[in-house]
Amino acid sequence: MKTFECKKCGFCCKGESTVSLSIEEIKNISKFLGLSEEKFLKLYTVKKGKYRIEMKTVNGYCVFFDKETKLCKIHPVKPAKCKEWPFVSAIFKYPENFYIIRQFCQGLKNFSWEDLKLLCKNLNKEKNVLK
Ligand code: SF4
Ligand code: SF4
Repeated sequence: MKTFECKKCGFCCKGESTVSLSIEEIKNISKFLGLSEEKFLKLYTVKKGKYRIEMKTVNGYCVFFDKETKLCKIHPVKPAKCKEWPFVSAIFKYPENFYIIRQFCQGLKNFSWEDLKLLCKNLNKEKNVLK
């Protein structure tokens, strides 16, 4: 079975918008950075609309993306959506979704739809949720 390996292409940290943060994630990241939540919010986040809080972007990338190493500066506490990528629920639903995401994520380049289904089956087995 193929295993997924991130190729550090940076695509998932790129864009003018980043993932939204939950209250728990704000707490964890602030603690990790040794900042008060207030300071963290002021320095690193931006409010979008009434409730959404996102990480700021700098030159088209998330503020926590390290362009030199191509790694996440807050890796141990990065938001759940970042940890999940590229295995978001949509990718397992339809081959079309998978092919779109595969175009952008270099780590999926050599995966076929069949490889993905096998990986999903095994991940589910590991989690004990396969009936
Ligand atoms: S898009 Fe895929 S290969 Fe590129 S950095 Fe993100 S997870 Fe890694
Ligand atoms: S928190 Fe880390 S993984 Fe998530 S978008 Fe920012 S740099 Fe990328």
